Amino acid sequence: MSQLAHTAAQRFEQIFGHAPTGVWAAPGRVNLIGEHTDYNGGLCLPIALPQRTYAAAGPRDDDIVRVASLDFDEQAEVSLDDVAPGVPGGWLGYVAGTIWALRERGFAVHGLDLATTSDVPIGAGLSSSAAIEGAAGGAASGLFNLGLLDSDASRVTLVDACRRAENHIVGAPTGGLDQTASLRCLPRHALLIDFGHDARVRQIPFDVAAHGLRLLVIDTRAKHALVDGQYAARRANCEQAARELGVDLLGRITPEQLPDALSRLSDQTLRRRVRHVVTEIARTRQCCDALEHGDFQQVGELFNQSHASLRDDYEVSSPELDLAVAAARGAGALGARMTGGGFGGSAIALVPVAALDAVKRAVADAYLAREWTPAHVFAVHAAGPADRVAVHEAQLVE
Ligand code: ADP
Ligand code: MG
Repeated sequence: MSQLAHTAAQRFEQIFGHAPTGVWAAPGRVNLIGEHTDYNGGLCLPIALPQRTYAAAGPRDDDIVRVASLDFDEQAEVSLDDVAPGVPGGWLGYVAGTIWALRERGFAVHGLDLATTSDVPIGAGLSSSAAIEGAAGGAASGLFNLGLLDSDASRVTLVDACRRAENHIVGAPTGGLDQTASLRCLPRHALLIDFGHDARVRQIPFDVAAHGLRLLVIDTRAKHALVDGQYAARRANCEQAARELGVDLLGRITPEQLPDALSRLSDQTLRRRVRHVVTEIARTRQCCDALEHGDFQQVGELFNQSHASLRDDYEVSSPELDLAVAAARGAGALGARMTGGGFGGSAIALVPVAALDAVKRAVADAYLAREWTPAHVFAVHAAGPADRVAVHEAQLVE
């Protein structure tokens, strides 16, 4: 059992005075390619990270959701009856919002006690938010026998509840990629999600270690102001462009139709946004082909093209991301790109094992030369989805 699962269980018992019923965990995710495409009805290709959020939980007879966050060293509670947009604020909204959303869907859920801890970097673009939602939702499913982790189909219901918590209660207009990845990814696979067709998924082999490679995450630890406004502005750009082009979603436009579509748009900014979305969806498709053929040179090249498109056409990169990507490539990465929404957060680099140390050193040196906060660089692999963690009774009460 993971040490963090044990910690969550132990702290649960200290705080609530009895052993938890169980421990549930859900992973963070990193998107390999397909950025800002989910809300455009396009393709994304995330993996689940080995880093996860753990929730030790037990049921209550009333409707109170009482949560101890070990990472924030805080406790908070709310009645499910009081949950509403913006209420409760802060981190409790992610947990209580998920339980609330399950109840809204008609599931017989009650209050619960929950202690959570995580090794998913928080606010780094690796979706600690979906991880805590997935862990809380998985716990509620287990405690109240909802069976939502039993099959991929039932997990879709939990994805919807987690997303509803984030969109409606927390108020973050995210597109569903994060929750789908955290709940539906499989080990050694990336998950191709088609948001143009009801988030239909296909598992794509992703075992870079078997090819002498590693996937590095470079957490820039930089967050820029106005991020939320920029995300909303990009979505508004896309909606306006779709209206001008007479399509419901930009993802309906094929690469062949792109030149004509661009010529029909009034505004240069809109043209660049549409070009990113349409070419990014095509790159995601090409990346799946390359992975299925084991062509990692091509995967790296597509990462590089994706980064350029996000930087120049979608304008969501940042100096920290651009530098991390350039340093990684200069030291031998096959390819590197920003990942997640942008304006800070994390980049990824596909690196031959022999170049790992050189890439880490190049990123560290580049940041040091600018006197920036050091980036946090670590290797990841495609891990499994949210699930109950096997914890023996003896371990819960020891
Ligand atoms: P990201 O998902 O990229 O990490 P978000 O801003 O979407 O960043 O979500 C981060 C927020 O999610 C935190 O500010 C906090 O409110 C909540 N959260 C994530 N992980 C935890 C945790 N382990 N304990 C409590 N709250 C958490
Ligand atoms: Mg998030």
